[in-house]
Amino acid sequence: MSDRIVIVGAGQGGFAVAAKLRALKDERPITLIGAEAVPPYQRPPLSKKYLLGEMAFDRLLFRPEAWYGENDIDLLLERFVERIDRDARQIVMQDGATLSYGTLVLATGAAPRRLPEDIGGGLQGVFVMRDKHDADRLAEAMKPGARLLVVGGGYVGLEAAAVARKFDVDVTVIEMADRILKRVAAPETADIMRAIHRAHGVDIRENTGLIHLEGEAGHVRRAVLSRGETLEIDMAVVGIGVTPNDQLAKEAGLAVGNGIVVDRFGRTSDPAIFAVGDCVEQPYRGERIRLESVPNAVDQAEAIAGVIAGSDKAYEPEPWFWSDQYDVKLQIAGYNGGYDRVVTREGAREGSQSVWYFRGDTLLAVDAINDARAYVCAKKMLSAGVNPAAEAIADPATDLKALANP
Ligand code: FAD
Repeated sequence: MSDRIVIVGAGQGGFAVAAKLRALKDERPITLIGAEAVPPYQRPPLSKKYLLGEMAFDRLLFRPEAWYGENDIDLLLERFVERIDRDARQIVMQDGATLSYGTLVLATGAAPRRLPEDIGGGLQGVFVMRDKHDADRLAEAMKPGARLLVVGGGYVGLEAAAVARKFDVDVTVIEMADRILKRVAAPETADIMRAIHRAHGVDIRENTGLIHLEGEAGHVRRAVLSRGETLEIDMAVVGIGVTPNDQLAKEAGLAVGNGIVVDRFGRTSDPAIFAVGDCVEQPYRGERIRLESVPNAVDQAEAIAGVIAGSDKAYEPEPWFWSDQYDVKLQIAGYNGGYDRVVTREGAREGSQSVWYFRGDTLLAVDAINDARAYVCAKKMLSAGVNPAAEAIADPATDLKALANP
């Protein structure tokens, strides 16, 4: 039987599993298989500095291609894994090639939701944002005076809007819900971010859906909106969320919910198969959640590598996230699902604010806007299980550092 560790998905999580296994001196053969043409790279700059042209692609790579050979990791690029044969302990690739595994790790990430073809999703000039190819195509279209429609007011769409304004592109954001950031943040945070975008000249329209896009000669030219208006546009960015890439697991008969179901050790319902990153539904404080963030992919991958190498230490997520828009740094500590109360706090510097989420007296999460001190203190409190009084947080005179270090 093979003792090979096969990792499907050469992104943030897949790379981190392979690198950590080698750092832990695990000497078993490792194969890292990825559908993309380039070695593993970080995605966050795709909608930030890379899209702006301020960061070269080489700087996005976690390691140069030669590193994989030097570390005895077989990196297979442009190879898509189509099926898992659990009985034979083999994976089957699209070209029919098979590979045996002793341990299999699924790090397949998530896929952006696309607009259906029948409402114009297939027109040229309609972009999603997930990989280098998407960012390169969008960057080419960013010309001063061009008219961009962003469909969906989530983080990726808002980041694309911010970059577009720097290129002097005319930007309209439409959001079907009654406000932007509805799935991920409280109205207080949405209010702050909306004001920032409007101050930069973005036309944000909430309660506004897309009926369809119209094209000329195959290229998008108009958007018909739910409120009856028609917008003349040159391009559209579709940021309407992602779906976990869990088809391989589903077809292999593994448990799947909102992603591939894993336990605290990253194990799927088959003990020889692990899963990591955006494709995973995992336990967190008595609930089951799916996270879409770099810190989760890395921390979970490293914990799982430890388990594969023989540790019995479970992964305890400590969620955090960030988003850069204009000169605003939004940092998020914790996971706000199930909050029933929010307080806001003015920071020491002009423009710095934080939004604190509670369920009862329990602190769940904090959104810090240009407020690194609030972010760092909140992270400490969440990690140590400190639950500050909401009234104390709302009072700008309260010393957060003292609260975080009781
Ligand atoms: P990915 O990094 O997506 O890697 C999955 C890889 O698996 C992909 O390369 C895919 O092609 C490959 N794959 C899938 N199926 C197969 C198959 N069957 N065979 C072979 N290969 C396969 N997070 C933050 O924390 N902060 C940010 O500011 C931030 N900004 C972001 C901006 C953008 C534009 C995007 C797209 C994401 C951003 N994220 C951010 C999210 C973060 O990048 C993801 O959470 C992270 O990449 C997840 O890692 P992963 O390994 O699970 O998936």
